[in-house]
Amino acid sequence: MALPKLRSSLPSIRTPNFWFLLTIQEKSQLTENVLIVGSMALDDVKTPFGEIKDALGGAAVYSSIAASYFAPVRIVGVVGNDFPEEHVAFLSSRNVDLKGMQRAEGKTFHWAGYYDFDLNQAHTLETHLNVFQQFRPVIPQEYRSSKYVFLANIDPELQLQVLDQVDKPKLTVCDTMNFWIDTKKEALLEVLKRVDIAFLNDAEARQLCGTTSLVKAAYKLCEIGPKMVVIKKGEHGALMIANGTYFSAPSYPLEEVIDPTGAGDSFAGGFIGYVAGTDDISHDNLRKAVVFGSTIASFNVEDFSLRRLSTITRKEILDRYNEFRRIAFFE
Ligand code: AMP
Repeated sequence: MALPKLRSSLPSIRTPNFWFLLTIQEKSQLTENVLIVGSMALDDVKTPFGEIKDALGGAAVYSSIAASYFAPVRIVGVVGNDFPEEHVAFLSSRNVDLKGMQRAEGKTFHWAGYYDFDLNQAHTLETHLNVFQQFRPVIPQEYRSSKYVFLANIDPELQLQVLDQVDKPKLTVCDTMNFWIDTKKEALLEVLKRVDIAFLNDAEARQLCGTTSLVKAAYKLCEIGPKMVVIKKGEHGALMIANGTYFSAPSYPLEEVIDPTGAGDSFAGGFIGYVAGTDDISHDNLRKAVVFGSTIASFNVEDFSLRRLSTITRKEILDRYNEFRRIAFFE
């Protein structure tokens, strides 16, 4: 294949249109990998539009599938012996390398939650860490040089163990949730000191920083460590804030949201996947990455579990990305 030649014309790869003409196999020869660590789960979810039980979920799973639209993914996590083989087959069919996935005796991480009509607010009913309680991430040798690392939502102590095992990535991004702010705040603050970009939702940013202002919260977080903070506001879009820069992206005006589970994870996965796929951490490119993240998240919420995320086409992603440009256009 003539593919390697494309590397020398990398600037053209950075335009989204060209990028989407490549197949996943072509991309895997051209791009940087994303290393993703986080929960791999079986979820029970109830929304006003239905419910599912023991469905594929977990922060690392949502974010890996989202990132895989742009770059090859290496996942690190653990599943129990109840994790269905069809889920393993699905992940590996989507350009997700599973060498870093451990299988342990016991049950897979299990989360049960529900949403009322305010779909921005998840209500946790149960969190069973199960096999994650004994889990120690072991980063395979070939993963250690990954330039892009995403610490998806999981115990911040495990996130720190991952950071200890990787060799100077070009970009490290972390995500978390109120469960860890409540139970492991010190370790979480350590993680924040060591990453480049932190993702939080609005309620988590307010809770962690003890302020009602999201702008103040972002500046406070930047003082702790990360160079940049991305605050997810559900149906109200997302903010990317760094010292002296402020970017606000809308969310896609969906008329029907069926299940918001995994919106934050697919947003972050789409973001880091796009940055890795383009291997460009300039501020302008990070803005595009926020919009690609929002694009992928908007598909994810159209159905339960990973049903929609597993069927999107590249054309659909690009069309919706272009619609975002129209929605946000300003002279
Ligand atoms: P999101 O809706 O993007 O915040 O993430 C939903 C996913 O996070 C679900 O699939 C859950 O399995 C997973 N999850 C829920 N609670 C936790 C937790 N405490 N740690 C890690 N993952 C979690």
